[in-house]
Amino acid sequence: ACVFSDVQSAPPIEVFLLNRLCAESKDPNKVNLGVGAYRTDEGKPWVLPVVVAAELQMANDKTLNHEYLPVAGLPDFRTAALRVLFGSEHKVITENKVEGFQGLGGTGALRLAAEFLKKILNYDIVYVSSPTWGNHKGIFKAAGFSQIKEYRYWDADTRGLNCAGMCEDLMAAPPKSVVILHAVAHNPTGVDATKEEWAQILHVCRERELFVLFDIAYQGFATGNLDEDAWAPRYFADQDMDLFVAQSFSKNFGLYNERIGNLAVVSKDASKLPEIRSQMEITIRVMWSNPPNHGARIVATVLNNKAYYEDWKGQIRTMSDRIMKMRHELTDNLKKLGTPGNWDHIVKQIGMFSYTGLSAKQVEYMLSKNVFMLGSGRISIAGLTPKNVAYVAKCMDEAVRA
Ligand code: PMP
Repeated sequence: ACVFSDVQSAPPIEVFLLNRLCAESKDPNKVNLGVGAYRTDEGKPWVLPVVVAAELQMANDKTLNHEYLPVAGLPDFRTAALRVLFGSEHKVITENKVEGFQGLGGTGALRLAAEFLKKILNYDIVYVSSPTWGNHKGIFKAAGFSQIKEYRYWDADTRGLNCAGMCEDLMAAPPKSVVILHAVAHNPTGVDATKEEWAQILHVCRERELFVLFDIAYQGFATGNLDEDAWAPRYFADQDMDLFVAQSFSKNFGLYNERIGNLAVVSKDASKLPEIRSQMEITIRVMWSNPPNHGARIVATVLNNKAYYEDWKGQIRTMSDRIMKMRHELTDNLKKLGTPGNWDHIVKQIGMFSYTGLSAKQVEYMLSKNVFMLGSGRISIAGLTPKNVAYVAKCMDEAVRA
C-alpha cells in the first residue's frame, strides 16, 4: 500500500481559495475583496516606486553578494525596523533595551515569538481576540501551545470594540498567559482601541502579568502616519513593559512575496539581551537557519536613506488615502441605494479591512455574484476601485434585501 493512502485533505485556506475562484471566474464584473493586498485604482498590484529605486541601486552595487546573512538577519535592516517601530528617540532605543530579529514576514516573526515563548519561557496559554487574523491560532498551536483562548473584542451591536468584555476576559486569564494584541488596524474588524482604552488594557496586562505580543502588520495604513499608527506599542514600551512586537513589511512596502518581517524584543533589563539573542539564534537556526536577503536589503536601503524614506512615507499615504476614499465611495453608494441598515461603520473602521456585518447567507449571495469575500463578512477595501464600487454596493444592497 502507498504510505500516503490515509492522508486526508486539509480544509482549504479561505483567502487563497477565494483568489483561485476569482482567477477562474469568467465574469467581467468579478471583484476580489478577499486577500489583504493593496490594489491601485485600476485594480492592479502596486510596486512602490521607492522599492524599484532601491532594487535598481542594489542591482548596480558590486559590493553585494549572495552569501548567507547572519542568523538574526541583516543588521542594517534590524536596526532600521526598530526605528520605524519606536521612533529613533524612544527610550528603549536610546537605552538599548530592544533588539530585532528578522523573520519570514510577519508570520515568521510571530512563529519565532511563539517558539521562544513556548520553548525558552515555558508559556503554554495564549489569548487571541475574537475574531482575529485567521493564522494566529494555527501559529501558536504549531509551536505547541496547548491552550488557545479568546478574549471578547468585536461588539456586533455597536460594530465597535467591546473594551469592557475584553478587559474582563483578560482579567480572568490564568497566570503566565500570553496575549496577542493587534497594534493597529485590527484584522478583520478594522476597529482599534482608543488611547484611553489602551490605558485600561495596559492596566489589566500589568495586573495579571500577561506577556504582551503586539502584532503590527499595517503600520501606516490606519492614519497614513507611521508614528501615530505605532502609538500603542510605543506606549506599552514607555510604561516599562517587557514586550514582543511582530512587525510585517508586506503591506506597507508592498513586499508580500519577499517575506520580510522583524520580531522586536523589548527587555526592561537591557543586560539580558545577549542571552536572549543567543537563544533566539538557536531557535531561528532550527527553523530557517538564516533569513532571505532581498526584502531586508530593500527595506534597509529605503529606511537608511533620507530621500527614499520621505518618498516611502508619501507612497504609504497614497495607499492609505485611496483606501479611505473607497470607504467613502462604498458608503455613499449604499446611501444612494437606500440600502436598509446603518453603514457608517465602513467609514469609521480603519486599515485595510471592513467587517461589513453581512451575514453568512448574505456573503453567499455576494459570492454568487462573483464578489469574493470572507465568510465572516470581511472585505478588503483595497480591492475596491472607482470602476467596481457601484457594482459591489448594488450586490450588497440586493444581499441585504434578499
Ligand atoms: N498579522 C496580521 C494581523 C495580518 O493581517 C497579517 C497578514 N495578513 C500578518 C500578520 C502576516 O503578514 P505576512 O506574514 O504576510 O508579513
